[in-house]
Amino acid sequence: MTKRNATLYLTLIFSLLTLVIAWYIASFLTRPPDSASFDGSRAYADVITQVQMGSRTPGSTGHVQIREWMRAELQSAGWVVEIHQTERLGQPIYNVIAKRNNESPQIILGAHYDTRLFADNDPNIENHSLPVPGANDGASGVALLLELARTLPEDTIPVWLVFFDAEDNGRIPGWDWILGSRAFVEEIPVNPQAVVIVDMIGDIDLNIHLEKNSDPTIRAEIWETAERLGYGNVFINSENIAC
Ligand SMILES: [Zn+2]
Repeated sequence: MTKRNATLYLTLIFSLLTLVIAWYIASFLTRPPDSASFDGSRAYADVITQVQMGSRTPGSTGHVQIREWMRAELQSAGWVVEIHQTERLGQPIYNVIAKRNNESPQIILGAHYDTRLFADNDPNIENHSLPVPGANDGASGVALLLELARTLPEDTIPVWLVFFDAEDNGRIPGWDWILGSRAFVEEIPVNPQAVVIVDMIGDIDLNIHLEKNSDPTIRAEIWETAERLGYGNVFINSENIAC
């Protein structure tokens, strides 16, 4: 081998090696995230995104904006989105339903995406006529469901994610509590084995007490699973005597 040939040969080897290393780094950087791992920081970012939309009270700009944002997030995670549009007490209702196929759901996971018209429980009386920001009461449940949409394995039993509308305006003239979920139950003909509704699950010191209106068997199963996974300090095994 002449000196010139040796130089060419070495240059070729070096170029190929560089290409292989570059391909390896590129494939590592563009690797999709582990679909099975729930990312709390991504869910938290979804809470911030919602709060930045302003209040999401029915009929507001934020209410339209959050619906379109949820639809885009769900579709990019591979879910089919349908709007269950109806009305109760003269109020328009837009429940957002996400499904992966046409099978009837065996489990429904739900949260409400609207926020309350008035912060009438705020310690500061000056806030009572303002809408609630809905970071914990509204956005936290939506964020959990969206992150589940991204991370639930594809081969689960049929699951629907339902984002209920018009849930939080009880004790306000012209409204009532849980209008959206009641309309869903009355108008959507499904018969799941279990329905789990989440709301106000974003507290900095989170205590989820046993929910007294829930099915005792499903409730026990969830709290036992949480205990087994090491979350017994969050899922408190007693009803909240304060409410
Ligand atoms: Zn709520």
